[in-house]
Amino acid sequence: MIRYHILEGDVTTAGGIVQRHTGSGQTFKWHGKLTSNLGDKVNCSACGSVGYIAPKGLRRPFDNMKQAPALNGDLCICKCNPPPELKNSQTTLLQNVAGGIVVNNTPNLLSGFASSYNAGQQAEQFAPSKDPEFVPSFTAFIGGAADKYPFFYGDKKVADGLGPTRIVGDYRTIIFLKRINHIKSAETKYYGYEEAYAGKTVTVKSKRPDNAFSDIQAFVKKHPKGQVNLVGHSLGGWNAAGLAEELLDAKICQVNLLITIDPVGVFLSYADNPLTRAQIYYWMPKPKVKKWISITCDPKSYQPDDAIADAGGQWEKYPKNNATIFHKTKHSHGNFQSMMQEKIYQNKSCEQILIEQLEVVK
Ligand SMILES: [Zn+2]
Repeated sequence: MIRYHILEGDVTTAGGIVQRHTGSGQTFKWHGKLTSNLGDKVNCSACGSVGYIAPKGLRRPFDNMKQAPALNGDLCICKCNPPPELKNSQTTLLQNVAGGIVVNNTPNLLSGFASSYNAGQQAEQFAPSKDPEFVPSFTAFIGGAADKYPFFYGDKKVADGLGPTRIVGDYRTIIFLKRINHIKSAETKYYGYEEAYAGKTVTVKSKRPDNAFSDIQAFVKKHPKGQVNLVGHSLGGWNAAGLAEELLDAKICQVNLLITIDPVGVFLSYADNPLTRAQIYYWMPKPKVKKWISITCDPKSYQPDDAIADAGGQWEKYPKNNATIFHKTKHSHGNFQSMMQEKIYQNKSCEQILIEQLEVVK
């Protein structure tokens, strides 16, 4: 199936007019007109409002924000009901969408996610899978800096009083395990971010006792159809994403659900001095998982904890453009539990979405 790119000035089925692309994302000129991206504005004369372009139907996967072109058949989300569709004016700039992905953003899905068009994409992925072979499950909870162990740079402790805070560890033990008491097939384990990689691609080899990579390898060997989920906070979010990538590269498994809660890491990963490097993936992870939810703290909510995220380099851009759901929260960086329990998608929290996934394999 072929779909055609939308250009500025193209019209909708209600006679609305696509406005010239502004803001982020790359477009280019085609026969003298600028191509349009998802999120671009549409002046709708039928309802008298300014709508925006939301995706509908099969398309090539979004690699990043730069490649989120509006296509014929996408929707103009305005006050019209049902939303008008976009009509292409040209037939030479196109994409063959065979083998692509279905992305449907309805106004309902987008409410609350308006800043990010990709929120709600692949909604059907969040309907729990009924695959009966999908048993049991293993979920790794990966803490950030100073969560499970005092904070170290390159295995050298830099100061006293830097943890452990057990923010993620206590959440798992005190909150989460009680919520999944009824699911007998759900295994969970708590790791420091220093324990969440294979040890091949990070700058400093961990001397910690646990290793999520080898644990998951063993789990999958025992349960080839097992469901694997990763939840990571802060540096643990960055490493959870890297771990997901590494597990797939090693053909061990594709992670089912990845949750990154205010992931941090970009500056540390680029630091040249090994002593100032945390034990995190050096290159930015590009996880390919079945579902990825990423929550980023709004810098306006700065608390002392947010300084850690700032120093580590809040990882926002790639998750924003690639996660299945990206959400910006008002909670501060250290408030892991609140972020896990905030309703972010169809009135559900990360915690509820994760539990739903675990419930299908009980
Ligand atoms: Zn309208």
